[in-house]
Amino acid sequence: MNLAQEVKKALPDALWGLVRGGGEAAWRKGLKLYLVGGAVRDLLLGRPSLDLDLVVEGDALALLADLGWQGRILRFPAFGTAKLLGEGWRLDLASARKESYPRPGALPRVAPGSLQDDLFRRDFAVNALAVDLSPSGLGTLVDPFGGREDLEKGLIRVLHEGSFRDDATRIFRAVKYAARFHFHLEARTRRLILRDRRYLETISGERLRRELVLTLEEETPEKALALADGLGVLEGVSPGLKADVWLTRKFSTARRRGWASPEVYLALIAYRMAAEDGEKLLSHLHFPRAQARAVEDIQALKAHEPALAQPRLARHEVYCLLEGYSVAAVQALALASAEASVRRRAHLFLEKLRYVKCSLGGEDLMGMGVKAGPKMGEYLRRLQEARLDGLVQDRAGELALALRWLTSGSAR
Ligand code: ATP
Ligand code: MG
Repeated sequence: MNLAQEVKKALPDALWGLVRGGGEAAWRKGLKLYLVGGAVRDLLLGRPSLDLDLVVEGDALALLADLGWQGRILRFPAFGTAKLLGEGWRLDLASARKESYPRPGALPRVAPGSLQDDLFRRDFAVNALAVDLSPSGLGTLVDPFGGREDLEKGLIRVLHEGSFRDDATRIFRAVKYAARFHFHLEARTRRLILRDRRYLETISGERLRRELVLTLEEETPEKALALADGLGVLEGVSPGLKADVWLTRKFSTARRRGWASPEVYLALIAYRMAAEDGEKLLSHLHFPRAQARAVEDIQALKAHEPALAQPRLARHEVYCLLEGYSVAAVQALALASAEASVRRRAHLFLEKLRYVKCSLGGEDLMGMGVKAGPKMGEYLRRLQEARLDGLVQDRAGELALALRWLTSGSAR
């Protein structure tokens, strides 16, 4: 099968020029260059991407010197790889390599290898595809493990029976691709997951988190999570982690509202966790700040639910209860709470209250003779509350109110 025309059509002219030029430069050095992995898979699926991985059978950094790439080039000498970043596209260059795993979950030992070795180290047959970029065979599909047939049948299949033991993060990758492409896990692959899921214990928190967040960046993460839960692999990642009908409904409502983000999804996941499970999730997976905050905040907000559900609550009280938490956590509360009044108030906060600011500031009050200090703080807070509750609507109203307080000597 030859894909030269398809690759050419899928890429902007400049990128196609770089890719073909790269194949020629390698050829002049007696080397062969290939397009590999997800880009080939996506091309065959008719959903081309501009995230391209190139592999050379030989020294990638030595080849880089001959490529004449211009622009933003990143070199990673420790890995022998390089990246060229363009407008809306990315080109990665690496040397073909062979990998072996000294023990389950460890980082692999790497040695130079052939294209065949490089494809064999990959996660699934659908990702173990390459397109020849050398002038002699330009466009030839290289498919040693039947990846193309799997794409036609809609199957996610590992390349050997030790795959999940070597690297159990592939379990998450399997459900991610199955959900994204509406594929099935090939029967043996599924059995291997059930056999080897305990090796998830060998994976560091950082790597688990990376896979979890990559899943949450998918269009419909709940599908992958539900598949993972069906395989019994969520509880092992963190206790209390589950994907069910409730979560599916909340995730899809989040998207309808335009709130979809890994932070909101994480907060929805954490909403039903017991406090100690929420803490375990945080300490085990080491999330970056914004994501950790979404988890912490939703746990704190849960404690405010009874207060937020009270029958009569002034707007400024709603504001006080919700202010200071991450927006993602309040959005999750607006989706997750079983109390209609809590959901309504969280919405009110998100749509209106959080934007309300009084227009008088400390300077203005000082001009009216208020001295800096606790009194000033109280007046400012009261003005903000009056504005939130709609007692005043504008600067003139605030001025009148402040004057009244000053004359009477108290903000009552
Ligand atoms: P996506 O569209 O999700 O980016 P991708 O196929 O480009 O899909 P990446 O995570 O960007 O996936 O990885 C690039 C390639 O590296 C994959 O196609 C796969 O061949 C290989 N790969 C990535 N992670 C692993 C892994 N854990 N084990 C084996 N091979 C992997
Ligand atoms: Mg990719």
